Amino acid sequence: SNSDFGLIGLAVMGQNLVLNVESRGFQVSVYNRTASVTDEFTAKHPDKKIVGEHTLEGFVKSLASPRKVMIMVKAGGPVDAVIESLIPLLDKGDIIIDGGNSLYTDTERRDKWLGDLGFRFIGAGVSGGEEGARKGPSIMPGGPASTWEVMKPIFESIAAVAEGEPCVFHIGPGGAGHYVKMIHNGIEYGDMQLICEAYNIFKAAGFTPEELAEVFTEWNEGDLESYLIQITSKIFAQKDPETGKPLVDLILDTAGQKGTGKWTLINAVENAVVISTINAAVEARILSSMKDKRVEASKVLEGPKAEIDIKKKKLVKKVHDALFASKIISYAQGLDLIAAMGKEKDWGLDLGKIAAIWRGGCIIRARFLNDITDAYRTNPQLENLMLAPFFTDLLNEFQENWREVISLATLAGIPVPAFSASLGYYDSYRSAVLPANLLQAQRDFFGAHTYERTDKPRGEFSHTDWPEVIG
Ligand code: NDP
Repeated sequence: SNSDFGLIGLAVMGQNLVLNVESRGFQVSVYNRTASVTDEFTAKHPDKKIVGEHTLEGFVKSLASPRKVMIMVKAGGPVDAVIESLIPLLDKGDIIIDGGNSLYTDTERRDKWLGDLGFRFIGAGVSGGEEGARKGPSIMPGGPASTWEVMKPIFESIAAVAEGEPCVFHIGPGGAGHYVKMIHNGIEYGDMQLICEAYNIFKAAGFTPEELAEVFTEWNEGDLESYLIQITSKIFAQKDPETGKPLVDLILDTAGQKGTGKWTLINAVENAVVISTINAAVEARILSSMKDKRVEASKVLEGPKAEIDIKKKKLVKKVHDALFASKIISYAQGLDLIAAMGKEKDWGLDLGKIAAIWRGGCIIRARFLNDITDAYRTNPQLENLMLAPFFTDLLNEFQENWREVISLATLAGIPVPAFSASLGYYDSYRSAVLPANLLQAQRDFFGAHTYERTDKPRGEFSHTDWPEVIG
């Protein structure tokens, strides 16, 4: 019984995390439901301090006390199934870490369940895919601070490093870690959709994938530098080995999703926080999946005659600005939601630290997360990211081109739902006056909901006897 760490679930993420932990000098025991997977894995790495076990009993016995068991299986029922089979085998004080993409409410339930039984539980979001898991992911752990202290040396050693800081810290109690991972994924949806909308405009303007590979390579050397921009440049450059054609042109335009985007939307509605960019991104995936219906509709519903007719170099600059501005909005909204939920749950979240651990390892890592980190470090009470001077200046600089790109696309019939939703938020947020006066009148008309007046103090409610409507 001398392994420092144990991991259950040897799929992509599990295997790579094990190799990462082992590479930091820890001995790791592993267990997988299907034993052959364990055997193949250990056989592939004969020289490593990895102990493969065929039974859960043997696995638990192989761990030093207090045992540290990380579960890396399919989210949902499988996590509960694994926990249930572990419970009779573990001792009080042992630590269970769920590193999958669990819904934060499940994590809260498991936190209480395991806590009541005397075990220690950490719900940790892990981002970075296969490569991140192997070389250094961004990790978002939630649970008791005292349990985090025990896990800290291992987690800090395996996490990515950005600007000299490990991309992991104790997010907060209970489900806070998985919650923040969920919003991270929502933001990832937004980033990806915004890039796709930029691509769609370029495609309509006649850019080839080869040209786009160049545009994105260039962007990745500037202020848009990010993992997603970088992989997009590589995607555009990729040729299909069979046909020699750009691979992206051969990929069917129907996107899948696993649920974190949907959960983010539900939570935003529950908290009355607007995340219109992420919302548009989730809906864009849904619309993309309706391929057959779209093909049918394309035969009967007409679009405009206009085309995007503008010098390519000019368009690149304008789309850059539209993309960057929309991205700022998406992060402003996502962080606003985290702040609202953190307050609601009394999690004591630190937005500056959260932005800081997204700078490395994870899918949304980007140069501009340094600026977000700085904005919150300068002003931890920041009301909205748009109002941090650095971002206010950028939005003011970008807004004209942002509007122009949306106009060009709209006039040419190119859908840009996330660009538009972002701009809609920006324009609404900066409007001292919105047309909700009329809305209140309508509500008072049909439902006697009352309204406040511009010429009376706030909190004083009026009602009008509106004329009767017949028929
Ligand atoms: P999968 O989500 O595909 O899960 C497969 C693993 O779960 C296998 O080891 C499988 O065992 C095990 N499993 C499934 N059902 C059960 C069960 N009832 N009892 C015991 N074990 C079970 O693996 P991934 O590596 O892709 O992801 C693991 C977790 O990490 C998931 O929560 C995922 O959402 C999350 N994640 C994944 C990322 C990725 O890029 N793939 C990125 C970030 C997080 P068996 O071999 O026996 O079938």
